[in-house]
Amino acid sequence: MKKPVAKADAPPPAAATPKPAPADPAPPPGAGGGLTVGGEGGELFGGPFAHLDSLADIAQAVEVCTRCPLYATATRGVPGEGNPNADFMVVGEAPGATEDETGRPFVGAAGQLLTKILAAIDLKREDVFIANVLKHRPPGNRNPMPEEVVACSPYLVRQIELIRPKVILAVGTFAAQTLLDTKTPIGKLRGQVHRYHGVPLIVTYHPAALLRNPAWKRPTWEDVQLARRILDSASTGA
Ligand code: URA
Repeated sequence: MKKPVAKADAPPPAAATPKPAPADPAPPPGAGGGLTVGGEGGELFGGPFAHLDSLADIAQAVEVCTRCPLYATATRGVPGEGNPNADFMVVGEAPGATEDETGRPFVGAAGQLLTKILAAIDLKREDVFIANVLKHRPPGNRNPMPEEVVACSPYLVRQIELIRPKVILAVGTFAAQTLLDTKTPIGKLRGQVHRYHGVPLIVTYHPAALLRNPAWKRPTWEDVQLARRILDSASTGA
């Protein structure tokens, strides 16, 4: 069995204490009609990792994870990083080559664009928590397989449960469809406020897709502004 390499250059995720469920901000006009996954009350989601009490515990579990075969081809796990008390959480698909080398999420070209997108809504990377559905890189960046998602997504569920952000931004089809448990195309999922266990969830295009298709920059800007408004209204209780 291949041993994961220690994350020498990755800031260790700090321990997190579960926060109370966020207040439920009313969706802004025109943004209703989204999908709902889980209860609205922000109750515990449950799952196989309910015993992992902190983000650091999750990161350690990911480092030695063999729940799917991806650990054998990946260089290291990429558990996610950022503020353990973040109000804003970004969820992507899976580590790419740079993430696999560094053990950090969204640090390649798409990640640099994500950093700029966050800055455009006045958020620094260190303010938010960034994670992926899959914690190990699929070889050659192929699409995740359903059994890999089943094996790995409990880590993400537990991260969301511990962080309890006020807003989740799902970037790309894969993260959006996985969290919302739907096959609806991303073009139909974006522009609405969905609910994931009571947490407002906004969908937008993946930064890697934006690099290929600049026409998606405008809708992405609208989506992240919507996410920012939800964050502001949740923070002020307005
Ligand atoms: N794409 C993702 O979905 N996640 C990363 O961490 C990097 C690229």
